[in-house]
Parts: sequence; C-alpha cells; structure tokens
Amino acid sequence: MTIGILGGGQLGYMLALAGYPLGLHFRFLDPSPEAPVGRIATRITADFTDRAALKKFAQGLALVTYEFENVPVEAARFLAERVPVLPPPAALEAAQDRLTEKRLFQKLGIATTEFALVENSDRLDAAVKQVGLPAVLKTCRMGYDGKGQWTLRTAGDIARAKAEMQTEKPLVGKPRRASPNSEAAKFIVERFVPFSRELSVLAVRGKTGETAVYPLVENHHRGGILRLSLAPAPRLDSQIQHLAEDAAKRVLRELEYVGVLAIEFFEHGGRLLANEMAPRVHNSGHWTIEGAVTSQFENHLRAVTGLPLGSTSAIGCSAMLNLIGDVPNSAEVLSIRDSHLHLYGKSARAGRKLGHVTLRANSPEQLATRLGELPSSFHRSEFCLDSALRMQTASRA
Ligand code: AMP
Repeated sequence: MTIGILGGGQLGYMLALAGYPLGLHFRFLDPSPEAPVGRIATRITADFTDRAALKKFAQGLALVTYEFENVPVEAARFLAERVPVLPPPAALEAAQDRLTEKRLFQKLGIATTEFALVENSDRLDAAVKQVGLPAVLKTCRMGYDGKGQWTLRTAGDIARAKAEMQTEKPLVGKPRRASPNSEAAKFIVERFVPFSRELSVLAVRGKTGETAVYPLVENHHRGGILRLSLAPAPRLDSQIQHLAEDAAKRVLRELEYVGVLAIEFFEHGGRLLANEMAPRVHNSGHWTIEGAVTSQFENHLRAVTGLPLGSTSAIGCSAMLNLIGDVPNSAEVLSIRDSHLHLYGKSARAGRKLGHVTLRANSPEQLATRLGELPSSFHRSEFCLDSALRMQTASRA
C-alpha cells in the first residue's frame, strides 16, 4: 500500500520511518528540492497548486495525508476527488485561520484566549481596547514558530504594529512552501495570558471513531520556537488531563477526524485555554517515539489506514530537546544513558529545526539527572533547561 504525504519535512520523514515496519510505502509532494524525505522515499518536487503534479502524485495511492497544515485546502480537495484524504480537508480549513479555529473552539465549548478580529490597521485601537493590554497581535493565516506576531504592551508598540500591519501579506509562511498573495492580511488581537505553563495534547481518532489520547506534554518555547518538551507533563492534575482530553475529543468528533491531532493550551489559574491546533503529527509529540508504547507517527498511520490504534501510554518520563540551527556532537549526546538522537538530514541554517534528542528515564528525578548531564553545547537558557528543572524541583518539594 502506498500512502501519499503532502509536505516533505521532518514530520513526513518520521511518518515514513514509522510506516516501513507496517509494510507501507510512501510518496511525497513538496515544493522544495531540499525536502529531507528525498533520502528515504519517492518525492515529487512541485508546488501544491500544480494540478498536473497533483494528478501524477495521486496515481495509484491508497490515500493521501499531510504533514504540513498550510497545504492549500483547494489542493487537498482536488486530491480528495481522486483518492481519500485524511484527516479530512475540513480539518485543514479549520486550522489554517486563527479566527475560524477560535470560533470552532468557542462553538464546542472549549475555553480559549479572549480575542477580537482586526480587519485592518485602523481597527487596531478599538480591538486592543476590547481585549486590554498587554495583548498579542497575530496574522490569521500562515503564522508559525512565533512569526507574524507582535506583543503589544505600550502605545509605541501599537503604533509600530500598525505600520507593519499595512505591509503584511497573508501568506508569509516558509517561502519554499507557500506562494505570495497580494490580498491584505487579516489579524486577530488576543489578550496576553500570563500563563503558568504551556501544555499540548495529542489525540488520535481511527476510522471507526475509536479515540486514544497521550498524556499532556509541558512545552517550553524561546523566540516563539519549541525548545523542550517534558512528557508526561510534571505535576499533572488529573482534572487538567481530563479537560484536555475532553477538548480534543470534541474537536475530533466535530470534524469527523481521522489521524493525529494536536492542541496547544495555556495553563492559567487552574484552567486550560486553547491557543491553537495542528491537524497533523506535532513537534511536541516526538517524545512518543521512545517514550510511549506507540509513537504518534505509527498511530497516525494506523488511523488513516484503518488499523487498530496502539496504546498511547507513556513509558516512564521523557524530555525532548529540539536541535535548532546546529547539531551537537553525536557521541557526547549518546554517552548519556537512555538518550536517543534524531537528525533530519537538513542543511544547517539559523532557526531551522535540524533534529531532536529524547532522554528517557524511569522517574522525574532520574530525568532531571540526565538533563543535567547534557553537554555544554546544550546552552541551558536556549533550551529553557533551568526553568524546566526549577519547575520539576518545585513539583517534588
Ligand atoms: P502561537 O503561534 O499562537 O503558537 O504563539 C507562539 C508562542 O507565543 C506561544 O507558544 C506562546 O509562548 C506565545 N503566545 C502566543 N499567544 C499568546 C498569548 N495570547 N498570551 C501569551 N503568550 C502567547
């Protein structure tokens, strides 16, 4: 059985690696000739809007899935006329626009950050007045890793944001994957949440409606980019896990979803506020390769191919560290007991995710010790290690 995957980055790479033991074959479509999956699978290099390429891509495939949530919805719908596309294109549509996404959360009774639509820069003052300062202004579409965002604390920040809003285009995503568009961008402004921490939930739904949810993950970002995930999230209150599971199941049911879905939350004052969702496997789920009975990648493939889902239980505790911009010495990383190194085969560039390291342990104490053994190339502040370890220590006190 050959599965087509839209997008050929590291998520696709790890999907294929999880699929080969299941006897699956893969074909990728990605606009970039540099897409790392070229090393391990057939890759068609073409724009997502190239219909002739999409037709060629679809030939003989059992189904199509995606590893990139900004695949144009029209491309997914075009393919869906020829071959099953899972998760359904409606999930892509819901997740691509922050406004649609927030309205979906609201409709399903999932608490979210307070927000207001900002149609253009003239409307910014009124929208900020509605939500209050500090606030975060975001483009509705194509924001990723903190791009297309402005934190507003002062009148000066608002004035600067207004000037920049006028030049912002709606499609400002990774150039290799998106084409420019001349329409004016839409924005939302959100109340700034002084959260105690960021958490994400990964859930999977099979073709029969069966669902399974992984334990919540605690995520540490720096510069808008995920640096460190701890799983299961330390100091996890069962009520919070329940709230996250309930939210994920509502979204899965509503969208008649098949595959893995991620939702990112802010934990604040004993509540969970949904920030955004991704209709795909997710960076905060990489720990599941070694840290869970069944990885998110395998479970996504089990779901879309109609196989029974695997257990989402954690095996001990894990920490996942993203390697951004450069990679450490492999031998130093692997000298730490129960460490695992994943390199994606991408060329080094500042701010680029090149790989990740997962450390596994049997207890939070052992995990803290192993994190402390990381070589000095793991600059502690860059990986948010000090704050994560402080939080872990607080949980044991
Ligand atoms: P996003 O692209 O929405 O995931 O935002 C990237 C990161 O910016 C989040 O992971 C948070 O660390 C921070 N952030 C986004 N929105 C807010 C908000 N409303 N309040 C506080 N921090 C935020």
